[in-house]
Amino acid sequence: MSIIFGPVNSRRFGSSLGVDLSPHTKQCNFDCLYCELDAAKTVESYSDIITVDEIIAELTTALSRYSDIDVITLTANGEPTLYPHLTELIEKIKEIKGDKRLIILSNGSTIAQKSVQDALIQLDMVKLSFDCATPSCLKKLDRAHKDISIGDIMEGMAEFGGRYGGELVIEILLVKNLNDNEENIRGLNEFLLRLRPTRIDLGTIDRPPAYDVKALDYHELYAIAQQFDPSLPVYIASRKNVNIARASHSDEEILMMLSRRPLTPEDTRLLFDDATISRLEGLLNAHKIEKVQKNQLFFYKIVKTP
Ligand code: SF4
Repeated sequence: MSIIFGPVNSRRFGSSLGVDLSPHTKQCNFDCLYCELDAAKTVESYSDIITVDEIIAELTTALSRYSDIDVITLTANGEPTLYPHLTELIEKIKEIKGDKRLIILSNGSTIAQKSVQDALIQLDMVKLSFDCATPSCLKKLDRAHKDISIGDIMEGMAEFGGRYGGELVIEILLVKNLNDNEENIRGLNEFLLRLRPTRIDLGTIDRPPAYDVKALDYHELYAIAQQFDPSLPVYIASRKNVNIARASHSDEEILMMLSRRPLTPEDTRLLFDDATISRLEGLLNAHKIEKVQKNQLFFYKIVKTP
């Protein structure tokens, strides 16, 4: 199997080349119920290890072929921070990457380790999963390796957040009747108010999961987004389970919704009927709301009058 995959186009990252640090087999310290890979026993470390030289050779070839990509994404069939030569790999990629951004998608389990923090601190963007605020949720949903504790993950994230100057994105994947309850959302919210990440992506199951678990629909995700503190940059990242009737809202209702939380153009197209979209445009023309770009995304928000 190839180490490098893509380019993959994404709205948020642009054109990205993926680097799979575990291309032959799944190696992960979680066994999430929603994993798109087959279920597998958790591991503490990689046993199937590709060399830094192999990765750099493939990446060099790919970069010469796809010179116009925006991003190089470190990922894995499993957890990329378990790759034992991560620091050396990142240093070598930085020597050849030119102006491409270098990012990682991690499950966050190892973030309390100083060596992992020291490696990740060199990246332009770090995206960490954070599904659970309680030990029972971590055990039931993410089925973490026995030595991993939610307390360590939170402390590690907080410490890393204080050290890191790049974009820290938190991804919360919600699964019906598992981590979508009020207690968990309250715990996530409390911790995220302390962490203050650059962005929080709220998603649900988009691909066939390893176990028999259910996704939330867009309306349920939207309702949960409202439970987070309005000052947190929560963005609904999942559009696959859209099963809602677009509703009609007055000008006042639109302003109230946007004062509670900015909405992306995609959100408004899913939530609002055509007449409401026209009202939104009217509010835009009247400068009561504005369209702003933040964290690579466009949002509608109300214009604050002094
Ligand atoms: S952390 Fe990612 S790769 Fe590991 S089990 Fe969970 S979803 Fe799968």
